[in-house]
Amino acid sequence: MNIPFSPPYIDADVEAEVLDALRSGWITTGPKVKALEQEVCKYANVPATLGINSATSGMMLALHWYGIGHGDEVIIPAYTYAATALVVMHIGAIPVMVDVEDDFNISVSKIEAAITEKTKAIVPVDFAGWPCNYDAINALVRRNDIKSKFSPKGPQQEILGRILVMSDAAHSFGAVYNNKRMGVWSDITVFSFHAVKNLTTAEGGAICLNLPSPFDNEEVYRTLRLWSLNGQTKDAFSKSKAGGWKYDIVYPGFKMNLPDLLAAVGLAQIRKYNDELLKERKRVFDFYGHAFAAFDWAELPPYQKEGSLASYHLYPLRIKHVSEEQRDTIIERITAFGVAVNVHFQPLPLLTVFKERGYDIASFPTSYDNYAREISLPIYPQLNNNQCQYIVDSVMDAVKATI
Ligand SMILES: *Cc1c(COP(=O)(O)O)cnc(C)c1O
Repeated sequence: MNIPFSPPYIDADVEAEVLDALRSGWITTGPKVKALEQEVCKYANVPATLGINSATSGMMLALHWYGIGHGDEVIIPAYTYAATALVVMHIGAIPVMVDVEDDFNISVSKIEAAITEKTKAIVPVDFAGWPCNYDAINALVRRNDIKSKFSPKGPQQEILGRILVMSDAAHSFGAVYNNKRMGVWSDITVFSFHAVKNLTTAEGGAICLNLPSPFDNEEVYRTLRLWSLNGQTKDAFSKSKAGGWKYDIVYPGFKMNLPDLLAAVGLAQIRKYNDELLKERKRVFDFYGHAFAAFDWAELPPYQKEGSLASYHLYPLRIKHVSEEQRDTIIERITAFGVAVNVHFQPLPLLTVFKERGYDIASFPTSYDNYAREISLPIYPQLNNNQCQYIVDSVMDAVKATI
């Protein structure tokens, strides 16, 4: 049997929505993006959502909007995809990495220890779709002693008067924390709609705004939208109408907009996201959970507790008491059975670009331990139970042959 790791979910509804965009005469940012933004607002219960061409762009744009730049610090977990750190570097700031906990997510006590007068934002990552400890993170940035360290620069920082919390929610669309979906648990939440993510537009993402008053989230949306389209006062859609030729450039913006053709894919998916796509992911997740619970070498990923539910983006299985080399051997053996697996993530300090900048894996022991023992199994709606059983058997045989 050959089982791919994460093929996109494309059905007749996706094809019809894309065809509709193709035949409409309008393929870049326009009505499909608007419709997707509205669906995300409704689903995540947030006041404003901007469609964007990737989560990477979205995070960069949001941090830039908050006035973060040269010399500023942004706290991120060491255990994440490189984009979380790169967006900080792209705006001239310094990514301050901290270690994670056993549940793969950023350690709040380590965040607290890393805060300095230069800290402008914290970017928690909901690893595998398991929400971070937002109660603790939100309480921390609002604490008086922490707020008094904050020295605001620029209008947005003056208004908020504290460290910004921006979630890298690339994995956690539809995850639930304290009985509410991701989107409302930080000032700004950025989702990814990349091809391998739970909800996809091939490439794309969304910035959900949930800034406290006196911010006007609609107004921030309009600013970010302008900045995502070169700072141009009229988008191509308005300019395409008769008499609409004249525009101005009012800000040195970026080119980060999401095209309608891509938004159409996500639009068809979001309509069946909760009741079909997420439900089927949960089925696969539970299948693995039941199967692996029987083995004492298997450490199962977190996925539920009082008020919280994962979005089942990844199935990050850890094998107890194995070395990195043994884990690699297990992966080779699973691969030989035709099952594609992955490792999420190589901690950032293991990657050249960060090593060269002085980040040292020795400072992040839990990130390393999670990585060294981790194997991400295939998880997506199209997997049937026979395939799940084949994957379980392959992992079981590979582990037995190795340890
Ligand atoms: C996929 C991913 C991103 C980047 O998303 P893009 O939409 O591809 O830019 C960022 N952070 C994490 C944790 C991711 O897994």
